[in-house]
Amino acid sequence: MKTESPIKRRLSRQIHVGSVAVGGDAPISVQSMTNTDTCDVAATVAQVQAIADAGADIVRVSVPSLEAAEAFRAIRAQVEVPLVADIHFDHRIALKVAEYGVDCLRINPGNIGRDEKVREVISCARDRGIPIRIGVNAGSLGKDLQRKYGEPTAEALVESALRHVDILDKHDFQDFKVSVKASEVFMAVEAYRLLAAQIEQPLHLGITEAGGLRGGTVKSAVGLGMLLMDGIGDTIRISLAADPVEEVKVGFEILKSLKLRTNGINFIACPSCSRQNFDVIATMNSLEQRLEDVRTPMDVAVIGCVVNGPGEAREADVGMTGASPSNLIYVAGKPDHKVSNQDFVDHLEQVIRERAAQLEEERARQSDNLILKTPA
Ligand code: SF4
Repeated sequence: MKTESPIKRRLSRQIHVGSVAVGGDAPISVQSMTNTDTCDVAATVAQVQAIADAGADIVRVSVPSLEAAEAFRAIRAQVEVPLVADIHFDHRIALKVAEYGVDCLRINPGNIGRDEKVREVISCARDRGIPIRIGVNAGSLGKDLQRKYGEPTAEALVESALRHVDILDKHDFQDFKVSVKASEVFMAVEAYRLLAAQIEQPLHLGITEAGGLRGGTVKSAVGLGMLLMDGIGDTIRISLAADPVEEVKVGFEILKSLKLRTNGINFIACPSCSRQNFDVIATMNSLEQRLEDVRTPMDVAVIGCVVNGPGEAREADVGMTGASPSNLIYVAGKPDHKVSNQDFVDHLEQVIRERAAQLEEERARQSDNLILKTPA
């Protein structure tokens, strides 16, 4: 059942974070952020790599001091993935990381201070082709806005963001994206909707400080789901009090569920019941773990019995239907062979990997044909 996503995306102005296009018709990118001490170069490089290996398109690193900027230089030299430097207040850090090869500056121009400092950062970003992310957060609204609105509101978030936008406008700098994050889902959703109607730049979505793995995942899926359904959002970050690799996985699951991105296996699994002919939950968990490295977009159905098994398996690239005395394996939508519960998971892993390799070959052949057919 490989339908296209019915979502019509808001057409934003495209920017580039290193090699990754953000906005316009570019795929919605997934990003995460390191939580190591940036000055610990080895630990930060290892985490950036783990986040990138999980499929992240962009990784953000916080750079709180000039010492961290020097560490950033060493980190930059050791990883390929586009890096965003998260900077607050100190414009000298922004100038340093720009010199050291940063791909995007997350810095709010209104917080940099005197106008000449702002001008210096913006002209450095312009000269080096580095975009800026304006990031407004309900937890750190300016005092005057807190006074004006009494408490954080969607309108206050948007007003704050637009003040920063105005500064970039004044300097005729348009290569930016904006986030207006709140931990409260309704506030974040409303703020993004309001902002989407007022600027043409790409939007970086997130429900900030969403919580732990389970609660934060649900909150993020609900909030981002509403916005993505509206066509709003060009890049996403899931904020979880958990391993950043989990943020990437959750981000992709949200996009996969709306058919906005593919990344590895889309599992379809029944919850299991007394009709199951193999241990569905153990099989599902084990496959998910073993096949984490597979990046081929494909559907795999894990269904415990013939009630729903054949229907789901026929729609999948690989499907298994529990049956007695042997389970039935479908490949490419067709019944392929039977197999007992003995060494079931080892066998399934092999079948899925073989099918993934076939799909990769088919895809490569199709893209070769496309190149051959394109007139010079
Ligand atoms: S597909 Fe079969 S085993 Fe799975 S939940 Fe439904 S009835 Fe139970």
